[in-house]
Amino acid sequence: MKTIKDLDINSKKVLIRVDFNVPIKDGKITDDSRIRGALKTIKYAIDKNAKVILFSHLGRVKEKSDLKKNDLSIVVPRLSELLNQKVLFSSNTRGEQLENIINNMKEKEVLLIQNTRYEDLDGKKESSNEEELGAYWASLGDVFINDAFGTIHRAHASNCGIAKHLPSAFGFLVENELSHLSELDNPERPYVVILGGAKVSDKIEVIENLVTKADKILIGGAMSFTFLSACGINVGKSLVDNENIEFCRRMLKDYNEKIVLPIDTNAAKSLEDENAIEMPVSNILPEYIGLDIGTKTIENYKEILKNSKTVVWNGPLGVYESNIYIRGTKEIMEYLVNNKIKTILGGGDIVAAASVLNLKDKVYHASTGGGATLEFLEGKELPGIISIEK
Ligand code: ADP
Ligand code: MG
Repeated sequence: MKTIKDLDINSKKVLIRVDFNVPIKDGKITDDSRIRGALKTIKYAIDKNAKVILFSHLGRVKEKSDLKKNDLSIVVPRLSELLNQKVLFSSNTRGEQLENIINNMKEKEVLLIQNTRYEDLDGKKESSNEEELGAYWASLGDVFINDAFGTIHRAHASNCGIAKHLPSAFGFLVENELSHLSELDNPERPYVVILGGAKVSDKIEVIENLVTKADKILIGGAMSFTFLSACGINVGKSLVDNENIEFCRRMLKDYNEKIVLPIDTNAAKSLEDENAIEMPVSNILPEYIGLDIGTKTIENYKEILKNSKTVVWNGPLGVYESNIYIRGTKEIMEYLVNNKIKTILGGGDIVAAASVLNLKDKVYHASTGGGATLEFLEGKELPGIISIEK
């Protein structure tokens, strides 16, 4: 894997694609993990006396009214604080003002360029990887580093476009993600996949890819009720993805000994109903919604996980946003952590659940990629990776 360490960046103008797509509420950054995630690479470049030029997107820009709320200058004060130095900002994504700032930059200075998606307003130039834009941005620097794992599954001008024209490599954040995720290409066995979450339709390709590689697949979340329906079980008012019952039936037929379904569920009449009851899946009462896996299922899953050497987990096993229905996810995650089973979490919600449970730093790897991680688990080639490796 070609990383920033393999390129000569001494005193060079180093373009770095970072992921500063931070969550914002009422004009304030609510979580700065993405900024902190990029620090290692930025600091390394500063140490090498580089002139550091940062690109990132923030939100989506479809119309003029999207500009103000996605103004990337919001990141400057926090980044400056974390780096303990001044951070320059260019409010334009191209043109004289930007070029002047760069021409006047001294070694070790850091410049953040306005939201790359401001370029989407005029014909989606960033998101469609318009040739001219990638070439222009590349002309501003000497080398390119891609450290934005969250967009590595997209071919945009600010990643693939620039990479095409400059000596390029991965930053430390991307290196960390790829080195962990690629362990799944050759996992120590038994290799167990845990799959939960809301919809089967979001996960079809993940299931199809992982079912061939894993030794067992443990199903939970709302997804389990589509699988149970496929077995002819009446699941009450639980969430069922009707269009994919046939898909689940085929998976169960082809991989009968691999796929494991819940035995019981913790169900209630609604999310507000305070009287949740555990019931066997064979006997879910008609007016009940299964909201979490039940005690017997938790025990069964722990038993299967006991001897596992590698676990990959996507999607929570219940409605983890509620402190009642987070229980299945909590018990299984604690079990994995306490037994030091090599576990990789992939997907926005399962990582969010790990945060809520204060287990995020205790699991072997919590992938920050969201959609990018899912595409990795689907076994797809990711454009941002190919653009550096080729
Ligand atoms: P990830 O982001 O990890 O890929 P998903 O986005 O697929 O996960 O699913 C997360 C959502 O699934 C959560 O909002 C959670 O409430 C929901 N969910 C989990 N179990 C159930 C259930 N039994 N019924 C309804 N929703 C569920
Ligand atoms: Mg999600």
